[in-house]
Amino acid sequence: MFDEVKGFAVTMKRLFRPNVTINYPEERRLMAPRFRGLPALRTDPETGEALCVACGLCARICPTSCLEMHVIPSEEGDRELGEFILRAGRCMFCGLCSQVCPVDAITMSGEYELSVMDRDGMIYTKIELAAIGAQLPNWWESGSGEFDGVPDAWAGTKSGKNLLHIP
Ligand code: SF4
Ligand code: SF4
Repeated sequence: MFDEVKGFAVTMKRLFRPNVTINYPEERRLMAPRFRGLPALRTDPETGEALCVACGLCARICPTSCLEMHVIPSEEGDRELGEFILRAGRCMFCGLCSQVCPVDAITMSGEYELSVMDRDGMIYTKIELAAIGAQLPNWWESGSGEFDGVPDAWAGTKSGKNLLHIP
């Protein structure tokens, strides 16, 4: 009997609180600042070129070997990034790649809507990753730095309403 009363009390307590559900996808919750979505490549805002210097550290540290890069000779006789492939189906969003990158060229984006109709859709190329990375350049600062203005950066990036605090 006491349990029933306790349960009823909880129901009554919750009855007058605001809803905790939202109408996704019309409404979207603002993700936590350290949310780790799809890894993305950052680009130089002036040239549009990927910041990646093709050192290969991210591919080496990746526990699931889902990063692949093709290095080509540059015009200056050095080496530069040719292609950069992310097999997102294998990615476990650990963020190690973004933490190890010496030039912050790869970052964990806020992208989480990744469903596709076939497996090829899970393979992202350099251009696709750079397009995602270009949306918000400061999502993730080496995995340990301060977050500046992330909530502002998120605001208005998705259609519909962003909700930071759900009571
Ligand atoms: S987040 Fe982790 S699993 Fe995904 S690409 Fe980076 S290192 Fe690999
Ligand atoms: S660690 Fe950074 S610079 Fe090196 S290959 Fe990966 S993304 Fe490029």
